[in-house]
Amino acid sequence: MSFAASIITLYPEMFPGHLGVSLAGKALEEGAWSLETIALREFGKGRHKQVDDTPSGGGAGMVLRADVLGEAIDSISDPNGGARPRLLMSPRGRVLDQTYVRELAEGTGAVIVCGRFEGVDQRVIEARGLMEVSIGDYILSGGEPAAMILLDAIVRLLPGVMGNEQSGTHESFEAGLLEHPHYTRPQEWEGMAIPEILTSGNHKKIAEWQREQAEKLTRERRPDLLK
Ligand code: SAH
Repeated sequence: MSFAASIITLYPEMFPGHLGVSLAGKALEEGAWSLETIALREFGKGRHKQVDDTPSGGGAGMVLRADVLGEAIDSISDPNGGARPRLLMSPRGRVLDQTYVRELAEGTGAVIVCGRFEGVDQRVIEARGLMEVSIGDYILSGGEPAAMILLDAIVRLLPGVMGNEQSGTHESFEAGLLEHPHYTRPQEWEGMAIPEILTSGNHKKIAEWQREQAEKLTRERRPDLLK
């Protein structure tokens, strides 16, 4: 059983995009996860396959129709038997963080709805139990890049995807801290040397130094993480 992602989108040609190369692409090829796109247009109404309409009560923009989205969601079968969470990419949602990414990565997959225009009819959110997920406090033109970011963060946590399993657990946020600075050769560059401790070979001292640096950075840049 591998992580199964089903994406409902008006723009299936945007996928797999960056998820088709590097780590995620290799994992996709090897079957560590799967990706299916559902073209919302196919569920559109009338001769023009219309998926949206003007907002009730007036106002700017267009809203994705509940009936069209509902039928698209209902067309999806679950490859793993159990129910996968149904997510709607939305700036009103729970803001994505590493804890949530980890929680999703431990599941069997996700159905991800990508919004467009002003958003989606509230009734389909309620009737199909869509969990709204935001990638941050800014507005994108569509849910697709948000879905790709969400999947990128999930896929690298799946078993067997990262070559070096260790490297996943030391990242920023995993220990509630930002990560310490990194250095590599050359030993000296533009008059700047690598901190001496890192070339001392004393692993205990190095770990202490890295921890101190991580705490200092977090205090300076993201004191909210220390609470
Ligand atoms: N009118 C909406 C914004 C619509 S943006 C509002 O003010 O809340 C169009 C679509 O882009 C949304 O339906 C959503 O799917 C996606 N989107 C925009 N910003 C996003 C964010 N920060 N996180 C996740 N999805 C986002």
